[in-house]
Amino acid sequence: MEQVHSSQILRLTLNDAGKDILASGCDGVIFSPHLKVAAGVRTADCLSIFAYTEKGLIGAIHAGWRSIARGIGSRFLEMAADCGIKRGDIFFRAGPAICPSCYEVGTDVLEKFPCRAAEAGRLNLLKAFSIQVQAAGADPKKIKPALNEKSCTAENDCFFSHRRGDGSRMLAFAIQH
Ligand SMILES: [Zn+2]
Repeated sequence: MEQVHSSQILRLTLNDAGKDILASGCDGVIFSPHLKVAAGVRTADCLSIFAYTEKGLIGAIHAGWRSIARGIGSRFLEMAADCGIKRGDIFFRAGPAICPSCYEVGTDVLEKFPCRAAEAGRLNLLKAFSIQVQAAGADPKKIKPALNEKSCTAENDCFFSHRRGDGSRMLAFAIQH
């Protein structure tokens, strides 16, 4: 994806199967689990989210604070419902991102989120995303980080971090086989 911190999500169809697609101007892709495609998200502190059901992978989201504030999570669920996928059937797995202790943000950012998504001026991206998708019908038990809590991109040198000054990005991807 050529990501722009938006809430735009591209829906891939059967015509896209087998193609190498760089989705531009969007921060999410959604597709039927029958398509059997791989999806990638580039991040350095932002959350990468992969969505799937018991039938397979259905999408990926680049979830930075701007995209979440613009409603990318609830939009994803609306589009899933349009594709005939039940909201409560979707599992969300989050890739490594900046942890709340390292993510101090201004009040201009904080005011865009429910109080529960932040603590002492620090934003919890996964919580912000979770609150949004749960409000839109996702099952809270199906939203989890893919790695353990120590996988903070700003503290762990294994990851690239925008906040730490890295110019590079990580690519998280999921493949259905
Ligand atoms: Zn941290």
